[in-house]
Amino acid sequence: MESKKSVSHRPSWDTYFLKVAMLVSERATCPRMHCGCVLVKDKQILATGYNGSIPGDDHCEDVGCMIEDNHCIRTIHAEMNAILQCSAHGVSTQGATAYVTNMPCTNCAKALITAGIKEVIIFSDYHDTKAEEFFKIAKVPLIRLEKPSNEINYDLSSFTSAVIIK
Ligand SMILES: [Zn+2]
Ligand SMILES: [Zn+2]
Repeated sequence: MESKKSVSHRPSWDTYFLKVAMLVSERATCPRMHCGCVLVKDKQILATGYNGSIPGDDHCEDVGCMIEDNHCIRTIHAEMNAILQCSAHGVSTQGATAYVTNMPCTNCAKALITAGIKEVIIFSDYHDTKAEEFFKIAKVPLIRLEKPSNEINYDLSSFTSAVIIK
């Protein structure tokens, strides 16, 4: 079978969704942490979320963080934002998989479990959390995968039918 150079970087589903989560995290507004979350069911993205302020509030990166007990409390976390997107649009999260750039905090772990998330996939750890204990209690598998590369393999010049807009 002929293999084209342009498809040689085709990622697995897990890598693909983790990379989407990484891209989503670029929208985060708190300089203390950039986190992205993608909720997936049947290989379809239900919602994405990053840590950011509530609608109408200033962004941490513009006015500084709102620190309480050494945590910034201004933002809604990525996982919560993804769940709340589903809530706002009437999309069921039951049985979905959460792809998250970071180990969830305790509250997000509890929210994911209660939202019916059946599996959580991450690539980075976070010490200040009881997430793992709650996932264990709820029998929600927590899967640690290798962090995908930051590279986006989109090379327009390799597609003969496309012309780059200048
Ligand atoms: Zn902040
Ligand atoms: Zn959280």
